[in-house]
Amino acid sequence: MSKGFGESDFAQVQSDRLTSDTVRRLRDANKQQAKRAESRRMEGTYGLCEDCGDAISAERLEYLPEATRCVGCQARRERSAGDA
Ligand SMILES: [Zn+2]
Repeated sequence: MSKGFGESDFAQVQSDRLTSDTVRRLRDANKQQAKRAESRRMEGTYGLCEDCGDAISAERLEYLPEATRCVGCQARRERSAGDA
């Protein structure tokens, strides 16, 4: 019955470490993103997608005030993450 317990313990530790790494990275990314949104606000381009230039929906901005891309462009970015 005890067989495999050590393994799942190890997996738990691994996923905990993974999570805190991810959280740290996300926190940094959020800070950067907020700064970017702020500078776009000063340029007067806030609310416009920085990729395609379309207006970002008010709904999205309400949910994510620091968004600088429309849903479509953001999804495309996230799918091809790494080559940004
Ligand atoms: Zn766009």
